[in-house]
Amino acid sequence: MSYLLSAAKLQTYHRCPRAYYFRYERRLEGSGFFGSTVLGTSLHQALAQIYQDWHYQDPIPGMDWIDYCWNQQITDLSPSQIVEGRSILRRYYHAFIAKESSMRKPLAVEGRIQGSLRVENLEFVLSGRYDRIDYLDDGLELIDYKSAKEIDNTDKEEMDLQIGLYYLALEQRYRRNLRRMSLLYLRTGEKICFEATPSHRQRVQSLIGDMAVELRRDQRWIPTPGDQCDRCAYARYCPAMRSQPEPLPEDARPARGLQLVLSI
Ligand code: SF4
Repeated sequence: MSYLLSAAKLQTYHRCPRAYYFRYERRLEGSGFFGSTVLGTSLHQALAQIYQDWHYQDPIPGMDWIDYCWNQQITDLSPSQIVEGRSILRRYYHAFIAKESSMRKPLAVEGRIQGSLRVENLEFVLSGRYDRIDYLDDGLELIDYKSAKEIDNTDKEEMDLQIGLYYLALEQRYRRNLRRMSLLYLRTGEKICFEATPSHRQRVQSLIGDMAVELRRDQRWIPTPGDQCDRCAYARYCPAMRSQPEPLPEDARPARGLQLVLSI
């Protein structure tokens, strides 16, 4: 059997191995540190359709194509969200499509990619979702749409992990190197780019190596207290937060014994 890893899992492990243990090993409820919105989902779907279904016979689509795609995705939205989403997509159009001489067909839109890595005799399957993958002259660019109102203060280390996971998976899937990961902020029209290098892949391989040792042998899941504790859904169970932490709920998944670990 294999052990499934995502960027969110790697980032949680990097932030705090104990939070990782609560969330992914014991399956405690709690959104942890991540989440998404209905409007955000509709915007992502509309953007996927804009690139996926355009015929590419004309160099760039008109605004009517943007409005058409948006109107396909509004069933679950309130009237104010529909207006807001339309204006966000129109801003996107002016910032990222109208200025270009042509809209290039992406390699892929809105999907999942997988890679794998064997460490300590464990098969790790790395899985990531992408919004869009574009061709560059010397490799690939991964596009991540951001619908949040404010620009993420994403920790650099965590962004590096995400880049490393995609680097590895894209290399295995397409035999091409990831050159850039770009965050497109839909509400502001800003684009923030991060260069991707083989060192990102090496960082991920090293972290997965640590995790493999934890799973195979240590089983310590040492808490690493920090700013993230204010947003941690598991603080009441955490020995770093309380001298007498609450016992885990009865429906928590049983802790893996050595035998279970060996059969992952
Ligand atoms: S409260 Fe802090 S130290 Fe404890 S599990 Fe959560 S993030 Fe880790």
